[in-house]
Amino acid sequence: MDSFIYTGLPARVVFGAGTTARLGAEADALGMTRPLVLTTPPQAADGEALAALLDGRAAGVFSGAAMHTPVSVTDAAMAVFERSGADGLIAIGGGSTIGLAKAIALRTDAPQIAVPTTYAGSEMTPIIGQTEDGVKTTRKTLKVLPETVIYDVDHTLSLPPVMSLTSGMNAVAHAVEALYAENANPVLSLMAEDGIAALVRALPAIAAGPDDRAARRDALYGAWLCAVCLGSGGVALHHKLCHVLGGSFDLPHAETHTVVLPHALAYNAPAVAPAMERLARATGSADPAGALYDLARAGGAPTALKDLGMPEDGIDKAVEITFKNPYWNPRPLERDAIRAIIRAAWQGNRPV
Ligand code: NAD
Repeated sequence: MDSFIYTGLPARVVFGAGTTARLGAEADALGMTRPLVLTTPPQAADGEALAALLDGRAAGVFSGAAMHTPVSVTDAAMAVFERSGADGLIAIGGGSTIGLAKAIALRTDAPQIAVPTTYAGSEMTPIIGQTEDGVKTTRKTLKVLPETVIYDVDHTLSLPPVMSLTSGMNAVAHAVEALYAENANPVLSLMAEDGIAALVRALPAIAAGPDDRAARRDALYGAWLCAVCLGSGGVALHHKLCHVLGGSFDLPHAETHTVVLPHALAYNAPAVAPAMERLARATGSADPAGALYDLARAGGAPTALKDLGMPEDGIDKAVEITFKNPYWNPRPLERDAIRAIIRAAWQGNRPV
């Protein structure tokens, strides 16, 4: 076996159905006496329900979390945090809510409990992206890594089927790239293969029956493993392309990952034979890129960037930006081939 470096990140994980019942005990273990509960406007009732589990200890519920962690929202939440004398953070929601908890932890060092309700995976990463005046900046620091994560299958049942699929594909993308990232290693590869297999099994079952609890459990378990891959592993062409496209054309996060993943994977496939062997096992297909495209399409997820609002003349702009900031990728970036995959993703073609 080649030499490698593996970096494990500290995290306490409570996994299962009904695990939110442990919230009070988990808050105690972190020394929280007045935790502030965070969520988005549509999930305000979930936030209130969590606060009610804390027997009057909650400092309040702030339900203003928004996509891409705007600094203005963090400022507003900070004011509530300070005014209420809060000493801990409990985030219930997807990447947007968990991002807000991270932003407050960055400023205060307050301990965090994350209760993820999507499959995006932010809860397992030391990464925070924040937006100010339309500019998104990303930082990596252990200060933002949640101390405890409560994965509760019950909170994922309400995630609508198509959002479940796009969010699940977002998770799959983390694991796919960890398999061939510059710092790929056999430990993360085990998690990546298992995580992708669980999601590929679960997502069609969730599309057919969103209340399928066994499928929901598999999907959440897979999402956790894929999130570990994002937190401890590396990324390559796929994540960089999504960053460029999302940032340049204001495209939705999970949907962009869903559309781009099959194309980025097809581009890298000739250069990453061992990763493709694992992906063939995980997807049950000799053509993993095609299988992921088919999975998205069959479940009614978007498959074309043009349907997400990207203009056709954005293709050349995306190529330009992609080549302005070169980065590591297992297959060297070739301008014409990159333009071809962005066009195929824009058009919604099945990858070749
Ligand atoms: P999100 O958190 O923005 O949620 C999307 C919408 O779905 C919100 O309105 C939310 O309230 C709702 N929702 C969430 N869970 C639900 C449920 N179970 N039932 C019903 N509605 C539900 O979406 P996301 O895809 O989880 O997160 C995207 C954001 O997270 C982006 O800003 C992205 O950059 C960030 N992110 C960061 C990291 C990281 O490591 N820092 C990793 C992944 C994503």
